[in-house]
Amino acid sequence: MSLVLALDVGGTKTAAGIVRGDGEVLSYVREPTPQGTDAEAVWDTVTDVLDRVIGEEGDAYTAVGIGCGGPMLWPQGVVSPGNMPAWRDFPLLDRVRARYAGDRPVAIHNDAVALAVAEHRWGAGRGRGHVLGMVVSTGVGAGLVLGGRRIDGKTGNAGHLGHTIVDPDGEVCRCGARGCLEPIARGPAIAAHAVAQGWAGEQTGVAVAAGARAGDAACIAAFDRAGRAVGRAIASAAALLDLDVAVVGGGISQAGDVFWTPLRASFHEHAGYPFVTSCRITEPVLGPTAGVAGAGALVLPDPA
Ligand SMILES: [Zn+2]
Repeated sequence: MSLVLALDVGGTKTAAGIVRGDGEVLSYVREPTPQGTDAEAVWDTVTDVLDRVIGEEGDAYTAVGIGCGGPMLWPQGVVSPGNMPAWRDFPLLDRVRARYAGDRPVAIHNDAVALAVAEHRWGAGRGRGHVLGMVVSTGVGAGLVLGGRRIDGKTGNAGHLGHTIVDPDGEVCRCGARGCLEPIARGPAIAAHAVAQGWAGEQTGVAVAAGARAGDAACIAAFDRAGRAVGRAIASAAALLDLDVAVVGGGISQAGDVFWTPLRASFHEHAGYPFVTSCRITEPVLGPTAGVAGAGALVLPDPA
């Protein structure tokens, strides 16, 4: 069975593994992604996790797949992730190719596109044709499989649901648009909102999630606002695309009911036609390693 080397770079964590042809992640290594503006510090973390995986599993892989936050110049893999200021026009694919690929094929895509492909092939969208994959974490990304096919769009950047408009009077997003989903639902925005509402604890998504579960009103309000915005965006996406399933992963999705209850309530409030309301919304079946599985799926032959 095919074995491929897979890399998943996000604003919060950088992870790697060897992915088998049936989607199993044989070796999984993760490290926090360095914050700040040092491009080489992030690259050093990339080589650390990849070297450790190869150290454990050997180099008998046949291809290399990469998932990374968008946007990016695609398929060249020159990345400028909105949630990673260290990388602007960073030649990630060429760097990985030079060090790890040899003659083997290398492919890259948005990390949420990779998630959508993996969940379509092996997870919540298995046997279904129309899948939205979302990563709600330091940023908010999304990718699409429609009619059983990955959707790239004109420039490879299709699926940026985080930059669709959910609040016309909202703040100006770092992308330049006004009212985007991402500045409401990304982890740092949830934490900032909780602090603005009076939360005196640590200003992180993890701490605010714990605060919300413990009943803190400011934390609950911040997750309610984020969950409702994500639900609204999924309702629009489901109406536009006639989806079977929307898979919502990433660190914020692991906060529990404080995120999911308002998300589902908002979705049902804003979804109308039965083809929209019947879109199933779920966490990744593949679990926390879904991102690495997705990076692998980019270079594994589709058995279907
Ligand atoms: Zn935006």
